[in-house]
Parts: sequence; C-alpha cells; structure tokens
Amino acid sequence: MKEFRRYAMISRPDAASDELCERAIRDLDARGYIRDELHPDVAFVIGGDGTFIYAVHHMMRTIGRGIDKVHFYGIHTGTLGFYTDYKDADYDEFMADFFENRLHEASFPLLQAEYGPDMHNAVNEIRIENAARTQVMDVYVNDVFFETFRGTGMCVCTQFGSTAYNRSLGGAVIQEGMDFIELTEISGIHHSKYRSLDAPLILKKDTVLEFRSESFKGALLGCDADVYRLDDVNSVRLFVCKSAEVHMLRGRDVSYFERLKSLF
Ligand code: NAP
Repeated sequence: MKEFRRYAMISRPDAASDELCERAIRDLDARGYIRDELHPDVAFVIGGDGTFIYAVHHMMRTIGRGIDKVHFYGIHTGTLGFYTDYKDADYDEFMADFFENRLHEASFPLLQAEYGPDMHNAVNEIRIENAARTQVMDVYVNDVFFETFRGTGMCVCTQFGSTAYNRSLGGAVIQEGMDFIELTEISGIHHSKYRSLDAPLILKKDTVLEFRSESFKGALLGCDADVYRLDDVNSVRLFVCKSAEVHMLRGRDVSYFERLKSLF
C-alpha cells in the first residue's frame, strides 16, 4: 500500500467531531505526519456520510482532478454510515489501523453532468428538479429516445447514493459491490394523457443519459449538496466519470447489512 505522509483534516462542526479532530491532529503530528490541506495523500473525515460528501466536494474544489490521488479515511461521530467502518468509540482502533497499515483501498465512482462548457460531479446523486412548474423533458439512454417525462424532476444516483435521496424517492437500495447507476422519477405525472416509466430504472455503469427540454427555466441541477441554475440550458448529459474516482481507505470488515440496518 502507498505510504501516506501528508494529511488533510475535514470535520463536521459539532463538539464531538471537533474533539476527535483535535485528538487526531495531535496523534498524527506526534508521529511526524505533515498537515497539508492542498496536497494531502490522505484526508481524514470526521462526521457522517454528509461530511464525507462535503469532504469530496471540498477536495474537488481545492485540487480538481488531483482528487484521484487522495484517499479518504473516515470515522463516524453518529451511527455507522456507509463510508466508514468506525464509530467515535472506536477511535483508538481507527488510528492504530492507520498507523499499522491494516487498511485496504476501495474506489467509488463519481457521476458527471455536462452542458455547454459546464461540468459538475457528484458522489451520491445528480438531480434535475423544478419546484416552480411542471418540468417536461425527453430522456435519452445511450442516444436512443426512451420517454418524455413530466413532473418535478429526475434523480440519477450511484450505488453509494442509492441509500440517500434516491431512497426517499422510493428508489431501490443497491447493494455494495454492484456497479450500477439508478434513474428515479421525482413526482412524475401519470394519467390518461401523460405516461412515463414510473419505476426506478437500474442501469449499467457505462450508460450515458441525456435530458433534453425546450426549457429548463426555473430548474436546478443538484449535485449532492451543490445546486446550479439550468435556465438557459436545453440538454444535460449524465454519465459515470472516467477520469477520476473517489478512493477510500477501509479498515475492519463491517457487513453492508449492518450499515443498512443502522439507517432506519
Ligand atoms: P446532509 O445534511 O449532509 O445529509 C442529509 C442526510 O443524508 C444525513 O442524515 C446524511 O447522513 C444522509 N446521507 C448522506 N449521504 C448518504 C448516503 N450515501 N447514504 C445514506 N445516507 C446519506 O445533507 P446535504 O448536505 O443537504 O446533502 C447531501 C446529501 O444528503 C444529498 O446528496 C442527498 O442525497 C442527501 N439528502 C437527502 C434528502 C432526502 O432524503 N430527502 C434531503 C436532503 C439531502 P449523516 O447523518 O451520516 O451525515
């Protein structure tokens, strides 16, 4: 495994996470690790799944495609979560596994949306949402027309993101290790005049989706917690990014179903 000497620290702003963060900085500095927020080999993430999503976006804003060189290593200061194998009570084990190199790497895909010169990435999901009016859009799968959708919007998630917003929309949870993306409707209109699939659609990872509309006025593109206006856009292409992935360090073996159980 690669040697990790330079670290960044990203923590949720609450008392429990702050305390753990200070402790980790003391322990890392005492062992000669160098804090480097711009060129880290490893980014420690202290918080929840939401903090992990924030950490990935923070790093993408800071170092762009350099994110491919960073490994995220997380401890959850709440329940269990999907990106981390440790809870705050496991802090000693969390650090010992890092110092003694008892970790393995796991990679997760990034979604990418492109329109005109703009390009945005997401870990959980990318959504096109219009809360102001009925959004009409044509959906193309691998350049083939699939359906005309009418409603609030569409959500495309990764396997990792299937337990996030997608689950609230009634989308299927996809088990860890299955390389799929999922397309789910957000409040579709279905009656005698208008119909679309009206069921979550699980797709192969190399699928390219395109959403075309005469007008996306008032619609927003949501990339995890970031949003962008689509007012002057007529087409958004969406696919799994080929040039970068999110790398994580994983420690002890935690069953996917233990994690899933801790969600509800
Ligand atoms: P946030 O406060 O950081 O997160 C909102 C909640 O979603 C938190 O409880 C968070 O868990 C959980 N979460 C995030 N990613 C998850 C995943 N992959 N699997 C299971 N739970 C996950 O919210 P934000 O900053 O506004 O948005 C970040 C993400 O939150 C979005 O990508 C979206 O998927 C999700 N979200 C969902 C809904 C919804 O379901 N209606 C609404 C808003 C946002 P932790 O407590 O562990 O951080």
